[in-house]
Amino acid sequence: MVTTRTGSRTAIPALGHTFGEWAEITPSTCENEGLRQHTCEVCGTIESENLDPHGHDWENDFTVDLEATCTQDGSQSIHCKNCNAVTDSQVIPATGHSYGDWSTTKEASCDTTGSREKVCSACGDTIAEEIPALGHAWNENPTIDKAATCTDSGSQSIHCARCDSTKDNETIPLLGHDWSSTPTVEKVATCIEDGTESTHCTRCDVVKEGSEQVIPKTGHKYGAWKTTKAATEIAAGQKTRTCSVCGHAEKQTIAMLKPTLPAVKITTPIAAKKAATIKWKKVSKANQKKIATIQIQYSLDKTFKTGVKTVTAKRTAASKKITKLKSKKTYYVRVRAYKKSGGAVHVSKWSAVKKVKAK
Ligand SMILES: [Zn+2]
Ligand SMILES: [Zn+2]
Ligand SMILES: [Zn+2]
Ligand SMILES: [Zn+2]
Ligand SMILES: [Zn+2]
Ligand SMILES: [Zn+2]
Repeated sequence: MVTTRTGSRTAIPALGHTFGEWAEITPSTCENEGLRQHTCEVCGTIESENLDPHGHDWENDFTVDLEATCTQDGSQSIHCKNCNAVTDSQVIPATGHSYGDWSTTKEASCDTTGSREKVCSACGDTIAEEIPALGHAWNENPTIDKAATCTDSGSQSIHCARCDSTKDNETIPLLGHDWSSTPTVEKVATCIEDGTESTHCTRCDVVKEGSEQVIPKTGHKYGAWKTTKAATEIAAGQKTRTCSVCGHAEKQTIAMLKPTLPAVKITTPIAAKKAATIKWKKVSKANQKKIATIQIQYSLDKTFKTGVKTVTAKRTAASKKITKLKSKKTYYVRVRAYKKSGGAVHVSKWSAVKKVKAK
């Protein structure tokens, strides 16, 4: 017989059971009732009693139930320490991609597009995009592609600072020659040879037509005459002067000195067999003191340039015989006074020339 505690306590005589200790038959959970019983030791009556659910014992911190990704939300909730129940469930928003910096995969040029991409460090997702062509970077000033010269035109254009492209090509007019204001010496004039000079272009050095001119030779620049051989009464002397520029030496004869002794007067010679006696007027006593000897010259040449023979006679003499003459030949004869004093030679003027034909 089983009764409930709230049953018919008033209907049963109050003899009273003698129950033992409660025994837990079904433990209570967070949400369900449990059951306990105890048994009367006398009559074996079993009395049951429900146990109240003990309710959830929640954790303090959230538990992540689903991790959020770059593109999908996750979730978290408060879990019960004792059962699988959860509460306060929350959304964890998607993180979004974590892209790194752009990296160029193909460089753009002036006229071609490039490309670049960036990668999510979390999920590896890649975004690629085009880099537009850069367009030319035209220089502000033109570049001379070919310089103009005196005789040829040149060209210039605007260059791209980045590539080889050009635009606005223009011709640079030829320059024409720039004639120097001072002539260029082609060949230096010397003492004895003319030089030449002409007008050149300062830029290309070409010679201007018809500009060649003669530079007159300078002539020697002689120093003073120097006597190399002094003139005497019987022989000419010589002098020399030297050009200070080229070293050329010019020689000149110094005329013989004027005779200083009294003249000897020749008279008519007397012919003989292959001989002749040359005669003159005897020198006066006073004049004899001034001279040393009488010189007699004879030659077949009336100018006395070739084959000249000279003999002497005493200053007191008035004639001299010359021998070994050629028969039938006309000889020319002349006489003079002669004296040597120290180093100097003194003579008189030659006498007149007489002819004599040897027999
Ligand atoms: Zn009992
Ligand atoms: Zn629980
Ligand atoms: Zn990502
Ligand atoms: Zn370019
Ligand atoms: Zn020129
Ligand atoms: Zn000279």
